This record gives sequence, structure tokens and C-alpha cells, in this order.
Amino acid sequence: GALLELEARVSVCRACPRLVEWREDVAVIKRRAFADEPYWGRPIPGWGDPAPKLLVVGLAPAAHGGNRTGRIFTGDRSGDWLFASMHRVGLAAQETSMHAGDGQRLIGGRMVAAVRCAPPANKPTTDERDTCAPWLEEEFRQVLPSVRVIVALGSYGWDATLRTMAASGAVVPRPRPKFGHAVEATLPKPEGGTVQLLGCFHPSQQNTFTGRLTEPMLDAVMTRAKEVSDD
Ligand code: SF4
Repeated sequence: GALLELEARVSVCRACPRLVEWREDVAVIKRRAFADEPYWGRPIPGWGDPAPKLLVVGLAPAAHGGNRTGRIFTGDRSGDWLFASMHRVGLAAQETSMHAGDGQRLIGGRMVAAVRCAPPANKPTTDERDTCAPWLEEEFRQVLPSVRVIVALGSYGWDATLRTMAASGAVVPRPRPKFGHAVEATLPKPEGGTVQLLGCFHPSQQNTFTGRLTEPMLDAVMTRAKEVSDD
């Protein structure tokens, strides 16, 4: 109920002029390989289990990935890495995520982007980040009660998670835990109990092409996430 309403409201958001223009331009111009496909060209809502144990927090949709398919991490290289790993450890039903009707399903998990519209060069401005923050805060409020573990992708996902937790009334440890691959921090939830925050290098081509992030490294974090969520 409430999550579907949030999804409907966010998918028509036009609060960031630069991102609205970009997401719509990309959807008209397209990439040649996808010239015959319709593009979503709108904000990408959270996706997955409505009462998840695991929450994956990414940066923003890819221009020809989520912005094309309408589903987070679907139809792009980062998603290929992420879903393959989640499938290997039992967190996703299929190893690929190609389009919204492919039957893919997260097992006890949910994915959200800190900024919900595709930004030029994958770089939202600070203003855009802050303008989009209330959507993430509302999603956290709705799903956090069931969440045991958050996988934050990149320092952007890590900082967005800490900022959102603080905005939801949780007491974030001081000094603030620093991002790193496979770094863990325990965060108190505002309603009581704790959530385990796991850092993970973002599976962007910048990291996967250079070997900064390898499949075993990604699997190690996802295995740990599965272990905590099954506890
Ligand atoms: Fe709205 Fe967020 Fe998209 Fe900005 S980035 S237009 S706040 S959904």
C-alpha cells in the first residue's frame, strides 16, 4: 500500500531541472543498440521485497540501464555484476537482470538508488542529492523495520545511508564510520534494534575493468549480507 503510493509519487517527480532534461533527452536520443526500444526516462523507484531483510543502496540509475528499462540495475553492466553475485549466494532468483518482465526476483532483498534519476556522467550535484534525499528517507522509514543488513555501494551509497539513517532519527556513531570494501558498521535503528552496514566497492566498469573489484570480492560481501540477513 504505502510503498506503492511512494513508487507512484516518485515516478512523476520533476524536482531537478537538469536531471529531468537529461533523463528525457537520453530517452529520445537513445543508444543505437536500443534504438527500437521504448525508454523509461523517469525516476527509478525502489525495487524488491516490500519487507526486506537486505537493502542495497546504489548511487543513481544508468542512462541506458535503469533509465531505459525502468528497473534499478537492470540492463547495464553494473547490474550484470551485482545480480550474478547475488544469484551465486542465493539472494536473486536469476543470474541476469535484463528487463522488467524477465522474471528476476530478489530473495528477501530490496534495491534503492540514492538519487533516482540518471545524472550526466553519473554525477549528481550536491543540490540534486539533497533534493532527492526525502524520497530515500521515506523509503527507509517504510522498510527499515524489517531490514537487518544494508549493502552500501561505493562511498556515495555509504554516505547516503549514514545521512538517511541520521535524518530518520537514528544515532549514527561518532566518528562516522569510514567507507571501505567489506568494512562493517553497526547502526542503531530509530525504532530500536540495529542494522549492519556493509561497504562494497561499486560494481561500475571503472572498478570491474581495472580489477579494483573482483567477483570473489563482491561475493564475499554478498555472502556476509546473506549470513546477516538469515541470522
Ligand atoms: Fe525527483 Fe530525485 Fe529525480 Fe530529482 S533526482 S527529479 S528529486 S526523483
